[in-house]
Amino acid sequence: MILNQLTIHEAHQLLKTKHLSSVELTRACLERIQQVEPKVRALVTITDELALKQAQKADELIATGDFGPLTGIPMVIKDNMCTRGIPTTCSSKMLENFVPPYNATVVEKLNDSEAVILGKANMDEFAMGSSNEHSAFFPTHNPWDLSRVPGGSSGGPAAAVAAGEAIYALGSDTGGSIRLPAGFCSVTGLKPTYGRVSRYGLVAFASSLDQIGPLTQDVTDCALVLNTIAGYDTRDSTSVPYPTPDYTRCLTTDLNGLNIGVPREYFVEGMQGEVETAMRAAINKLEELGARIEWEVSLPHTPYALAAYYIIAPSEASANLARYDGVKYGFSYQDADSMWEALAKTRQYGFGDEVKRRIMLGTYALSAGYYDAWYLKAQRVRTLIRQEFDQAFTKFDALVTPTSPTVPFRIGEKMDDPLQMYLSDVCVLPINIAGLPAISIPAGFADGLPIGIQIIGKPFSEETILKITHAYQQSTDWHKRKAEI
Ligand code: GLN
Repeated sequence: MILNQLTIHEAHQLLKTKHLSSVELTRACLERIQQVEPKVRALVTITDELALKQAQKADELIATGDFGPLTGIPMVIKDNMCTRGIPTTCSSKMLENFVPPYNATVVEKLNDSEAVILGKANMDEFAMGSSNEHSAFFPTHNPWDLSRVPGGSSGGPAAAVAAGEAIYALGSDTGGSIRLPAGFCSVTGLKPTYGRVSRYGLVAFASSLDQIGPLTQDVTDCALVLNTIAGYDTRDSTSVPYPTPDYTRCLTTDLNGLNIGVPREYFVEGMQGEVETAMRAAINKLEELGARIEWEVSLPHTPYALAAYYIIAPSEASANLARYDGVKYGFSYQDADSMWEALAKTRQYGFGDEVKRRIMLGTYALSAGYYDAWYLKAQRVRTLIRQEFDQAFTKFDALVTPTSPTVPFRIGEKMDDPLQMYLSDVCVLPINIAGLPAISIPAGFADGLPIGIQIIGKPFSEETILKITHAYQQSTDWHKRKAEI
């Protein structure tokens, strides 16, 4: 038994039957981190002392017999979620020395469950990117092939799970940042419905799109983490006051009576042959499991989602990032002769190129005279895309698409061409535009490189997409394969 490769539910069982302690499990993960981190580089901060203290405390609770599914299980958090007393850098020079005085709601919830925090995971700076190469510190490497990217922007969290450094992770998804890395690293990644999980304490990128979600080794674990982090929060004004079901209750293996559509626009030009083959095989499997598949579904506005996203997300980012002015908190340029120079230099040195690009795009799209032509138009497209999904969901319980048109690309391959980089998200980003829940699960390999499929659900139907993907994982073993490093 390789301890650091246990799932949450397996580890929980062993903790319960006293075959394992949280300290042992935590040590196994910390050893693995020591061993592979020089190659993978998934973590920005390692909190080993804290983790062992939390593990000891968890073991005391476990001894009482009264503990939850996440108690004592070691995990990592994407470095854009505020952790009290632990640096939260957003992989940016701007926040390199920022130590938050408070916890994000999701972190509070993990603490309440006596989870063990191993560290903070690398990401594209301020979550802007699809490859982790936009981290201001270092790029993370894909555990399946160290010369390739892990996807982004939650590349650190996904790589940490795929490399066996952590049992699970939390990521954030604004335009695919949980699902693309999940697909590229062969792990399970869920973006919940907008409003399902509190964004309080998540460093804002594009507030109308951002959502926090789990990256895990299987769907059962995903349901367990969602059980803990979901729910209404008065500190997030877009949090939705719906009751949270027990997401493990829907995990059956019978898909009879479910209608699943395959939207044709997601078979995009340039899609790799192996990805299409894996997709078709996965869909046939779902059919075998009892689902009714409809191949000829059309969502004609899909091709406009990317353009709308790259107006809306940068616009919101330009407003959100205005707070980094060298005065309130974060990096501050000290050698200036005037306030204006201090402000300009703070931003010049504090932000990386991609972040600057987004701020410029956003301020342009929001400026007087251009607002109607760009921002307002993009919002109209957003409405059309959402309506189109609503319409599709009158007929279907879920939609299935590839997670990415290609397998993970090489480090450096797309860095000089932002548009090519943006195109990596064509299949995942329309879902944020519409605020829907979607999950990516492992569905095959091409020459040893992971392929993911994405299942999209109606708003607040996480149970349906978890059920479908759980059934799939019960009769396939892609998710059980482990990367050799
Ligand atoms: N890759 C997309 C972007 O760069 C999505 C990022 C995200 O979901 N945080 O904006």
